[in-house]
Amino acid sequence: MDAASKSVSRNRESVRLLVVSKTFPATALREAYAAGQRAFGENYVQEGVAKIAELADLRAEIEWHCIGPVQSNKARLVAEHFDWVQSIDRIKIAERLSAQRPAHLPALQVCLQVNVDAGVNKSGVAPKQALELARAVAALPRLALRGLMAIPEPAPDFDTQRALFLRVTELFAQMRAEGFALDTLSLGMSADLEAAIAAGSTMVRVGSAIFGARPPGGAAFQTAGKAAGKAPA
Ligand SMILES: *Cc1c(COP(=O)(O)O)cnc(C)c1O
Repeated sequence: MDAASKSVSRNRESVRLLVVSKTFPATALREAYAAGQRAFGENYVQEGVAKIAELADLRAEIEWHCIGPVQSNKARLVAEHFDWVQSIDRIKIAERLSAQRPAHLPALQVCLQVNVDAGVNKSGVAPKQALELARAVAALPRLALRGLMAIPEPAPDFDTQRALFLRVTELFAQMRAEGFALDTLSLGMSADLEAAIAAGSTMVRVGSAIFGARPPGGAAFQTAGKAAGKAPA
């Protein structure tokens, strides 16, 4: 992140690090916390909620981001436990999150997830519908719309990665021009954070480059169950 921001003459402080801790146990998060990390991202709602409970002693200092798909029946858990949701792509989920956000907590901070390579990646609102969704989300009382998140399909080289990210940056600029007070552009993961920073990302979401490789595909869910406190097989 230091090198990437320097190489495009950006202030290092303008890019935050979200440590993506899915599949890794709470002990790994404690190590990251001890090293100064305060923002963590989880994909699977129940796994995330279990870790939030395991790290309850640090709750006031940690910012928890839900970065995976939220199903209707998980909305309440998300609204009750997380600080941020970066994966809003339909109004129905946003309405539920707003309705179920407990009154004693601050508004849930949210980003719209945008599907930049239309069709390939299933999650995310189509760029053409993003403005309409933003208007609806911004009107909800218990959500604070902060920005956009995207996960483009993996691209082989820096220029292709950067070009995909720039589509989101343009949409972000367009929304700000429309009057939305957005400050968060959540772009970039382990494999493409340099290109994301070059394209204007303000938050990179990094997992494997910090914790090491995760088990592939569905295995992550099983590991997630173990991390969530179930007995290992
Ligand atoms: C897993 C994940 C990441 C982190 O991916 P790495 O390649 O391990 O850095 C970032 N964002 C989302 C939405 C993820 O699901």
